[in-house]
Amino acid sequence: MKSIALPDGTQVPALGMGTWMMGETRARRATELAALQRGIELGMTLIDTAEMYGDGASEELVGEAIRGRREQVFLVSKVYPFNAGRRTMPAACERSLKRLGVDCLDLYLLHWRGDIPFDDTVEAFERLQAAGKIRRWGISNLDVQDMQELCAVPGGDGFAVDQVLYNLSRRGIEWDLQPWCAARNVPLMAYSPLEQARLLAQPKLVELARSLQATPAQVALAWLLQQPGVIVIPKASDVRRVEENFGALRLALDAATLVELDRLFPPPRGPRPLEML
Ligand code: NAP
Repeated sequence: MKSIALPDGTQVPALGMGTWMMGETRARRATELAALQRGIELGMTLIDTAEMYGDGASEELVGEAIRGRREQVFLVSKVYPFNAGRRTMPAACERSLKRLGVDCLDLYLLHWRGDIPFDDTVEAFERLQAAGKIRRWGISNLDVQDMQELCAVPGGDGFAVDQVLYNLSRRGIEWDLQPWCAARNVPLMAYSPLEQARLLAQPKLVELARSLQATPAQVALAWLLQQPGVIVIPKASDVRRVEENFGALRLALDAATLVELDRLFPPPRGPRPLEML
């Protein structure tokens, strides 16, 4: 498994698993559990969840999937912006830990920027870190301007990642956020790497994938995996798709293919506001 270094030197898998919209339907539970467990076996041991997902149902599913394998997994969860202050974050974190059945999160992210001032949020993260409830903290959906404001508060430059929307059809971050993070050795975590499956039906990607004897999902993921400092977290709810996505690690895209992908999915020609899903 390719790995990516966090600012504290910890290595994490470049290909992990997302879990939005998982754990919400009883009938799908066994299939989803099998998918997550297969991903862990394959080494996709970074698992991303959030208190928001299914009002905790995703965290509960992840908790069940990792029972007995906690030490193999790098666990990421997220706090709602309205819970991201000194008064509210400790209880929100406890609820997430309880649903996940663990004592500590490897990474706790601010899901998106809300009304609570950054200094309050950073202090809340640092207290949880000092109490051993989280190993590190990070943010999600923050653009360069937000990052600069965050860095201006005490301890505000202590984030481990920024998790943002990034895939072949959403390349705006390459203009400014990606170089900004790269200059600080802060990895980006690419969410919705398959554009929630919408990318996979695009004829130009389908055709290119066929010429490479790969699937559209594998090409989309392999392209992200070739970007420096990017952690990729596709969500797949069955074993077959998890295995297919894992296959992206073996797909090396040559220079000509990368040029072709730039032609089909052009990089930004100027600054664009950060997109969110
Ligand atoms: P995604 O990973 O881009 O796409 C997931 C969709 O693609 C699902 O419908 C899945 O279907 C399908 N899929 C997966 N592998 C496939 C394959 N090999 N072939 C065909 N279809 C495939 O979208 P996402 O779930 O939005 O993003 C990934 C993760 O990022 C989320 O789960 C979540 O953890 C995180 N996220 C974070 C934020 C944020 O604000 N921080 C926002 C969005 C997402 P099945 O599930 O039916 O298999």
